[in-house]
Amino acid sequence: MKKIALLGATGSIGTSTVDVVLAYPELFKIVSLTFHSNIEKGISLIKQLQPQFVGVGSEETRVELSRHFPNIEFGVGETGLVQAATLESANVVLTAVSGSIGLKPTMAAIGAGKDIALANKETLVMAGKWVMAAAKKHEVSILPVDSEHSAIYQCLEGQKPENLKELVITASGGSFRDLTRSELKFVTLEQALNHPNWSMGQKITIDSATMMNKGLEVIEAHWLFGTDYDKIKVVLHKESIVHSMVVLKDGAYLAQLGPSDMREPIQYALTYPERLPIKNEKEFDLTKIGQLHFEPMDLVRFPMLALAFKVGKKGGSYPTVYNAANEIAAMAFIEGRISYLQIEDFVQRAVENHFETTEVTLDDVIAIDQQTRAIVERWIKEEGRL
Ligand code: NAD
Ligand code: MG
Repeated sequence: MKKIALLGATGSIGTSTVDVVLAYPELFKIVSLTFHSNIEKGISLIKQLQPQFVGVGSEETRVELSRHFPNIEFGVGETGLVQAATLESANVVLTAVSGSIGLKPTMAAIGAGKDIALANKETLVMAGKWVMAAAKKHEVSILPVDSEHSAIYQCLEGQKPENLKELVITASGGSFRDLTRSELKFVTLEQALNHPNWSMGQKITIDSATMMNKGLEVIEAHWLFGTDYDKIKVVLHKESIVHSMVVLKDGAYLAQLGPSDMREPIQYALTYPERLPIKNEKEFDLTKIGQLHFEPMDLVRFPMLALAFKVGKKGGSYPTVYNAANEIAAMAFIEGRISYLQIEDFVQRAVENHFETTEVTLDDVIAIDQQTRAIVERWIKEEGRL
């Protein structure tokens, strides 16, 4: 039986994971879970899943819930995340928190010998070098949950690394794919949250519109598969049916196709290398879909994608800065404090202002993440909404 620590249980990936787990109660059990602020949903998950350990967002919530559930152990904040991720009985940790808050529990879980089913891409962008080195050292697997990376993982199965020519990551284009840059000036949060193909958490939906999400995924792919940035391509594929592809050196393209249903990559990360039917699967009929479209990505229209390749190639803490600036800016846009195009401005500026002369350590990267957040937060306060 897979005993799962689920970090970020109340979110979009968390909810899909609970669906997968409840479809096969004889195979999966959630032994620990965490949530931040959605207490109502958290309580209902505790009742439904009866975990041993629960990580919550505040001390008040811990006190309140401890009274209601005396048999469950509770923890708070980052410590609670680490406790959930390292619970003795857990053998796999599904990281479905949003943002670089996922780094410490992921590193702790790896150190404790737990396999990782990774949805939380920000962790790999912020500190991919150290996460992958720790996974190697402790001989744990990192299985991708992100649909593009799950697709690539599946396409690479059985292939010799030397036969890989390139990875082709598909991008739906997000909510604003058909708008010009000048039309982006006046877009609203509501419009940005209206993703054409996927229903996801707010931050990743905004990231999909700005193409930050694809930029983060390029860096995520670099670390997961050890692929040079020159061998990672992105194509616009508005149907999101081809989840991603690999090209082999003889020119063969291998692709993984399916409906827009995150239960598939989540379940595969939990059953790998076995497969199970998806309960109540979405209808998927290629003859009804009829046509699939592929277009080149316009890097002028989507500067955040161009920037991802730039920071990725520079390495060190440049991706950390790219990610941290975006986390603050995307959240400020969600809170109505800045306009849509200011997200790009702040990320661009944070990266341009960053200088690195010596090799950085993991501690440096953690400090640079914090500094970048503070700097961007200050810019937002000073300049406000344009
Ligand atoms: P979400 O916003 O729906 O859920 C986030 C979860 O993290 C919630 O359970 C929340 O309680 C928790 N959380 C938020 N802030 C926290 C904090 N400070 N401390 C502790 N917990 C906190 O997000 P999501 O869409 O489920 O995405 C989660 C992760 O998975 C992200 O890294 C995202 O990029 C990645 N991902 C999501 C999808 C998707 O379809 N939603 C697809 C691929 C990858
Ligand atoms: Mg994805």
